Amino acid sequence: MVILILIGIIPCLVGTGMVVRGYRNRAVSLREISVKNQCEILRDFLTTEAYLDNPDSDIINNELSMLSNIYNGRILIVDSDFRVVKDTYDIDTGKTSVTKEVVSTFTSGKGTSSYDDRNSYILMTFPLSDASGVAEGVMLVSVSTNEIVQNARVLENMGLVIVVLVMLAVLFIGYFLSGWLVKPFVRVTHAIEDVTDGYEDEAISVPDYTETVAMTTAFNQMLSRVRQMDNSRQEFVSNVSHELKTPLTSMKVLADSLNGQEGLPIEIYQEFMQDITQEIDRENKIISDLLSMVRMDKKAASLNIEECAIQDLLNGIVKRLRPIAENNKITLIMEPMPEVYAEVDESKLSLAFSNLIENGIKYNVEGGWVRVSMTSDRKYFYVTVADCGVGIPADQQEHIYERFYRGDKSHSTTIEGTGLGLAIARSAIVLHRGVIKVNSKEGEGTTFQVRIPLKHQR
Ligand code: ADP
Repeated sequence: MVILILIGIIPCLVGTGMVVRGYRNRAVSLREISVKNQCEILRDFLTTEAYLDNPDSDIINNELSMLSNIYNGRILIVDSDFRVVKDTYDIDTGKTSVTKEVVSTFTSGKGTSSYDDRNSYILMTFPLSDASGVAEGVMLVSVSTNEIVQNARVLENMGLVIVVLVMLAVLFIGYFLSGWLVKPFVRVTHAIEDVTDGYEDEAISVPDYTETVAMTTAFNQMLSRVRQMDNSRQEFVSNVSHELKTPLTSMKVLADSLNGQEGLPIEIYQEFMQDITQEIDRENKIISDLLSMVRMDKKAASLNIEECAIQDLLNGIVKRLRPIAENNKITLIMEPMPEVYAEVDESKLSLAFSNLIENGIKYNVEGGWVRVSMTSDRKYFYVTVADCGVGIPADQQEHIYERFYRGDKSHSTTIEGTGLGLAIARSAIVLHRGVIKVNSKEGEGTTFQVRIPLKHQR
């Protein structure tokens, strides 16, 4: 509204000022021209009649009085001694007048013309020259421009009245127009408030302006992202509860079956207790995997970055997993590796590689192998974990990084796992701004390729 008022009023004020000033300048210059013309005629008359020698000439004095009356001005005739020979106001006759304009006219032999804006009068001088062109006297004419100034004031007042009228009109129009213009934005606000208060669940739409469309589209995108996050949170919570409940249910069944029967041999108790211990181990594994994953979910700022020898890190993992591999009758092969130093979070990354190698051992065939190799270039190091195991069917490959996703039901029941290993590994690699890729063929084997920058980028 303020902008509308300013747009309406400023041009009016500027316009009025320009019109008034234009009128005044034009009127003054027209007055100057006409006075000058009349005075030049009179000046020629004065020179031919040798007025300076005969200042009592009635004809000329009448002419002088007439001219000064017409223009509401005053005429002074000054001779070469700067004595006032004639003053149409009869005030300064006989006195001396040494003004700047008179002196300049005598010395240059040319007339002057100036306008005194403050006191509103035009001042002109005309030389009264002899036949040889030497100034013998000066005609000093001052003409009042009061009337022009008064006309300009009337114009100015009229302009101000127009400005006030425009201001009222703009206030009136501005009030309604600004309300009307911002209405779609008010609608957007209301729609967002409805969603926030929970009255509305749908995407909002206010198609009045391009801007409101852009705003609502951005809001809808944010809303769908929030919903997606909410859904995945709910799904995660229900998955966690389910996964944590399964071992508890098994333990309860085992314990109940022992409780329900009396006089069972000690061997049965031992066997059942072993099963219960296994379930406790499984519960423990799920909880520790969950904790690892929650740690990975934190921002990259939580990384504990240090320079680390990657070949030593991999060697350590292989050494730790070798007994498990041997138990499963799997050969764990460590290819010769270059010395590579990189800025990484050692514990998070070693968890990621452990999970990959462990999977290679778990999802393998008797007498199979798992091969770990590493190379590097100037920017990255590359770790490859390959196995000759069961492989991942093509349609499952896109899901393997999802939390709690466990592949083929036939082997997921026999092979232990929580479905969190690859989710953890991927989070750790992504936190390092790295990439993980899988290449697998069912029945032939699986290769995981990991690429991680040598220098940590924040
Ligand atoms: P978990 O091993 O606990 O089931 P992961 O997240 O580590 O969970 O793996 C998810 C799924 O991906 C596994 O259930 C398995 O089906 C498949 N998978 C992962 N690694 C391999 C591998 N090396 N060979 C075959 N299948 C694999």
